Amino acid sequence: MCLTISQAREALRKREISSVELTQRFLSRIEEVEGRVSALVTKDVDLALSMASAADEDIREGNISPVTGIPMMVKDVILTKGTRTTCSSRMLSSFIPPYDATVVEKLREQRTVILGKTNMDEFAMGSSTENSAFFPTHNPWNLECVPGGSSGGSAAAVAAGETVYSLGSDTGGSIRQPASFCGIVGLKPTYGRVSRYGLVAFASSLDQIGPLTQDVADSAVVLSAISGYDPRDSTSVLYDVPDYTQFLIPDLRGMHIGVPQEYFALGIDPEVQRTMQDAIWEMKKLGADISETSLPHTKYALSCYYIIAPSEASANLARYDGVKYGFSYGEGKDIWENMGKTRGLGFGPEVKRRIMLGTYALSKGYYDAYYLKAQKVRTKICQEFEEAFKKYDCLVTPTSPTAAFRLGEKVDDPMKMYLSDVCTLPVSIAGLPAISLPCGLVHDLPVGMQIIGRPFGEGDILHAAFAYEKATKWHELRPKDIDSDAWVTSN
Ligand code: GLN
Repeated sequence: MCLTISQAREALRKREISSVELTQRFLSRIEEVEGRVSALVTKDVDLALSMASAADEDIREGNISPVTGIPMMVKDVILTKGTRTTCSSRMLSSFIPPYDATVVEKLREQRTVILGKTNMDEFAMGSSTENSAFFPTHNPWNLECVPGGSSGGSAAAVAAGETVYSLGSDTGGSIRQPASFCGIVGLKPTYGRVSRYGLVAFASSLDQIGPLTQDVADSAVVLSAISGYDPRDSTSVLYDVPDYTQFLIPDLRGMHIGVPQEYFALGIDPEVQRTMQDAIWEMKKLGADISETSLPHTKYALSCYYIIAPSEASANLARYDGVKYGFSYGEGKDIWENMGKTRGLGFGPEVKRRIMLGTYALSKGYYDAYYLKAQKVRTKICQEFEEAFKKYDCLVTPTSPTAAFRLGEKVDDPMKMYLSDVCTLPVSIAGLPAISLPCGLVHDLPVGMQIIGRPFGEGDILHAAFAYEKATKWHELRPKDIDSDAWVTSN
């Protein structure tokens, strides 16, 4: 198994290894596999080593946080002061942020070590990381398959042992779906749990930052490290941040779990369905009280999301006009031609598609028919979840209808690509927390189970996920293609 935060922390605490040595090992691991995986847009060796030596100093003084000295990576949509942040777009290909996102600031204060910035679908729009303007990322389990997206670089890097953990962002599934495709754990927090300050905006009413990790315990550690109210993000919520590791309880007695039937009718691969049935049976054995339930509005979530998210995106992306920052075309005859060319050359096809969809949905005469209607559907979906959580502590569904698909398989068919998130979108629309964790192998590729919680119910989903993980071995499987087992045992 690749190194977890808990294992790395133990080794650092006992002084078996220094943070600088640990960082150097990860930097050489990156050298070894990056040519095949392509998870990183920017590797920052100087930054990593200087953060590591600062961490070593803290460790010597006995000043240790749960993430001190531990190497990690940041999705390239989250601002890092002084380190290029591109959103995998030509528009920002040489943009160096003048400030840190709050999550990065928090992790810097806790002396984690940033190795670099990970590849993604341009502006987080996509489900395969093929929409990156730079290059696609490959799935470490099968290099001919996608790692999922949009946080594909963050997920692939963890699965390939290039980093201990990473941060991703999730608007409609972008942490959970790649975690599922790469056989790792990904958690999308409740909307408002983690500050979005310094997260480049895609759809502001949906975006959240969250951890991608080797196991559930690490997910709890990182969530505790990044959560909390932030006066610079008016949508972050003033709500106590518990120590999430206290929810890591290995049995499920007394927990009520619902299984919404609609999620099993969404074009699910029969093998994924079978894997889910086994997983549910396992949770029953752990003492959970499990019953079937129904969320009939689930089938409207996809259309609702693809009105709301592009509408917000079209407004958010208006700022890239070639005047303020980022790519600027300056050869035109006037400002209008420059602006048109800047946007025409700076954005890729999927981003343009979303801007057009959103602009249309918000335009006079169509607003009521599309945007307003989508908001009403959103309310219905929220109410339905609210009802369900009167009865259940958690809901369990597949994370994605299939395992990872092949590179190129869906890239020319947006509708097929959008369907990859059919199980994660309703949760985002309702702003709920959800975790994806490995629950089986289908055609030699990992698949994930999604556990959904009530607002601020991160503790419940971590509890359910931890108990399941303890009782099974799926999280211990690592991709053979990339040979990370050999790496771990040789060190
Ligand atoms: N795949 C979805 C989309 O393309 C979700 C993306 C995300 O969560 N950032 O919009």
